[in-house]
Amino acid sequence: MRYQYDMQTHSDFSDGDYAVKDVIKLAKKNGLRAISITDHNTWYGLKLKERLARAANILNVQGVEISTKIFDTEVHILGYSLNLDEHILKLGLTETVNGYNQRAKMMLEKLAATKIINLKISAIKKSKNSLLPMTKYDLAKTIAKRLKITPKQALAYFNSGGVAQVPYGDWAMLPSAAVKLIHQANGYASLAHPGETLEKLVKRFGQTIGEKKFKLLISELSKSKIDAIEVYSPKNNLEMRNRCKELAVKHHWLITGGSDWHGEHHHPEIAMGDGGLNEHNFKTFIKTIKKNRRP
Ligand SMILES: [Zn+2]
Repeated sequence: MRYQYDMQTHSDFSDGDYAVKDVIKLAKKNGLRAISITDHNTWYGLKLKERLARAANILNVQGVEISTKIFDTEVHILGYSLNLDEHILKLGLTETVNGYNQRAKMMLEKLAATKIINLKISAIKKSKNSLLPMTKYDLAKTIAKRLKITPKQALAYFNSGGVAQVPYGDWAMLPSAAVKLIHQANGYASLAHPGETLEKLVKRFGQTIGEKKFKLLISELSKSKIDAIEVYSPKNNLEMRNRCKELAVKHHWLITGGSDWHGEHHHPEIAMGDGGLNEHNFKTFIKTIKKNRRP
């Protein structure tokens, strides 16, 4: 099913393939009515996204996706608003951005040690605005060009099990801290692609303990007063969607949905609109978002 309200997409401000203007052009071409470009760990470009979406006559919901860590496992928290406080986000994300940049450097060092390619971070920096965090996909794109392989093949060096993988360091905040930061910045927080998170926990701890940790995460997020859960994600199977819907009812959470589209090079398996909200769910979502947290 294709959704007209895709609340999770990415541009090259983080690890997407396309520039913001091209993301919006594609959204228009695909008949989307609303979009959120939830770039990872950055406040940068929120106004630009809004301006370009408005020009294309598409409703833009300001969004961000924050990388956090609990039980040594990556958890992504989405933040939505019509009026995110850039200054608060910028301050709150400083440690994360620095951590990301540090990690990128460590990844290149690890890769150099394998003799696959010796690349300095300065070679990558040229292609990236210095205000934006350096993602492993930024590294992969440059390496792909140099080694004449695909970015996806280059990315495998840095992904889980890869020769130059570096996990999140102590710089990564807890999921509850990301919820707090999003609230402070006028936003509403949602747990991104819970199916993927559960998968990661099960991979690390096995089925029984992984499940237990997932329940603990949900209880932590409930305590932190998270507002929503991403139900309609291609990374949630039917069982997970139903489970998320039940959690939404139980905790009085809003329902969000998004494809997590990054472009056909980074994630060829996901098309824009593969996840998202239908009109009814979007109306409920936007009605809440319009109640700005700090008027
Ligand atoms: Zn994510």
